[in-house]
Amino acid sequence: MMHLQNYIDGVMVAPNEGAYIDNIDPSRGTVYSLIPDSDKTDVDQAVAAAEKAFPKWSNTPVDERSAIMVRIANLIESRMDEFAAAESLDNGKPVSLASHVDIPRAVSNFRFFATAILHFASESHYMEGVGINYTLRRPIGVVGCISPWNLPLYLFTWKIAPAIAAGNCVVAKPSEITPMTAYLLSEICIEAGLPAGVLNIVHGLGHKVGDALSRDPKVKAISFTGGTKTGETIARIAAPMFKKLSLELGGKNPNIIFADCDFKKALSTTIRSSFANQGQICLCGSRIFVERPIYEKFRDEFVKRVAESKVSYPTDPEAKLGALVSKPHLEKVLSYVALAKEEGGTVLTGGEQVFLDGEYSEGYYMRPTIIEGLTYDCRTNQEEIFGPVVTITPFDTEEEVLMMANSTQYGLSATLWTENLTRAHRMADLLHTGIVWINAWLVRDLRTPFGGAKNSGVGREGGFEALHFFTEPKNVFVQLS
Ligand code: NAD
Repeated sequence: MMHLQNYIDGVMVAPNEGAYIDNIDPSRGTVYSLIPDSDKTDVDQAVAAAEKAFPKWSNTPVDERSAIMVRIANLIESRMDEFAAAESLDNGKPVSLASHVDIPRAVSNFRFFATAILHFASESHYMEGVGINYTLRRPIGVVGCISPWNLPLYLFTWKIAPAIAAGNCVVAKPSEITPMTAYLLSEICIEAGLPAGVLNIVHGLGHKVGDALSRDPKVKAISFTGGTKTGETIARIAAPMFKKLSLELGGKNPNIIFADCDFKKALSTTIRSSFANQGQICLCGSRIFVERPIYEKFRDEFVKRVAESKVSYPTDPEAKLGALVSKPHLEKVLSYVALAKEEGGTVLTGGEQVFLDGEYSEGYYMRPTIIEGLTYDCRTNQEEIFGPVVTITPFDTEEEVLMMANSTQYGLSATLWTENLTRAHRMADLLHTGIVWINAWLVRDLRTPFGGAKNSGVGREGGFEALHFFTEPKNVFVQLS
C-alpha cells in the first residue's frame, strides 16, 4: 500500500508519530493508499522550515521566483494524464473533467501568478509642494493555506501560487479526503528547484493539522477554502491574533431563468451548472428559478435530459457524473432528499443511490436529482447540500425572484438568463453575491475578484486581489521641501 509523505523543508518525510489515515477510492469504496495523520509537531517543523526560508525567498528577485513557478507549471503539464488520473481516482470525478478542468487550471494558476507578479506594482501619491508617499508592498512571512476536496489541486494551487509569487513561505494543508495530487505536487516542486522551506505540505485531519496551523502565532495569514462552519472555527481562533484572513466558504447559488432567455443555451448550461463534478462545486446553481410562462416547458425538458445523464465509473469516457467523494457525504446528500420529501417536495428525477456492477459495486454513486414543490424558505432551499441535487421553482416577478434568491445566509454566486439587457444589469446590481454570470456559468478570468458576500466568505481571491492579500502595505512619506 502506498504511503503518502509530508513535504517539509524541501524533502519528503513521514509523519513524526508514524500514524496514517486510510485514503479511499470513492469509485470502488476501497482503501487504496495511506495519508500521514500528522499532528502539531509536524506543523511546527513545517513552520520552522518556512521561517528559515523566508528571508532569502522574500528577497529573491521577482524574475527568479517567477521562473521557478513557470517550471512548476510546465512540469505539471508534462504529467497531465498522470495528474488527471490521480485526481479522478482520489475524488471520484470523471477523468475527462479532471483532464479538462482541474489539472489545466492548476497549471494556469502557477503560470498566471508567475507572470502577474512581474506586473505587480504599488501606488505613489504626490502631495503638491509637500512631498511624496509611496506604498511598499512586502510579503507577510509564513502563511497557511487550507483547501477542500471538491477541486483538490485547482483550489490548493489557487492559494499557494499567489502566496509564493508574492515572496511568502507557505505551510499548506490539502483536504485529507483528496490528498494525492498535493503529494504529487511536492515531487514537482523538488524537481523544479523550489528552495527548501518555501512550500511545505502537511497532510492530515482538519482538527489536528488545520487547527495547529490556525493557532500558530508565527503563521501571519490564513487563506482558507471550505465550509462556512469551519471558516467560523478558524476565524474564532485566528482573529484574536489579528491574522490576516481570506475565507472562501459555502454557497446556495440561485440560477434565475427569465422567459425571454435563449432557451437552448439556458437549458444545456443549467444541466452543467447543476451537476458538474456531481454538483460538488461551490459555484453550482442549486436553486433554479424559472419564470412562469416557460416553467413547464423548461422543467419537462430539463428533467428529460437529466434523466438520460449517465452515472458511471470515472474512467468511463461517457460518464456525465462519477462518484460522490465519500460515503458520509453521499449519506448527507441522500438525507437532504429525504428531508425535501418531508418538506413537501416531489422528486421529478433521481433521488436514489446508484449501484454499479463488479469492482464498482461499493462506490458512492447517485442519480442527479431534481425536486419541485418546495417553498423558498424551507431547509432544503436554505442549506448547502453540495451534491447532485437541485430544486426548481416558478416565479412571476423580478421582485419576487430577487427576494427568494437573496433569502439565504449565503452570497457566493448567481446566474441570470435573460435577453433583456436593462433587466440583466439591474438584477446583477441587486443580487447579494460576489459573482454574477449573465447568460453563462463558470466562465473564469483569473484577473477578476473571486469570492462571496454574506456567509460565503471574507475577502477576495484572484489577480491583484490575491497579491494584495499576501502582502502588507506600508506607506512611506518623503518630505520634499
Ligand atoms: P471543510 O470545511 O470540511 O474542509 C476544508 C478544509 O478545512 C479541509 O482541508 C479540512 O481538513 C480543513 N479543516 C477542517 N476542520 C478544520 C479546523 N477545525 N481547522 C482548520 N482546518 C480545518 O470543507 P470540505 O467539506 O472539504 O469542502 C466543502 C465546502 O467547501 C463546501 O461548503 C463548499 O461550498 C466549500 N467550498 C467553497 C469554495 C469557495 O470558493 N467559496 C470553493 C470550494 C468549496
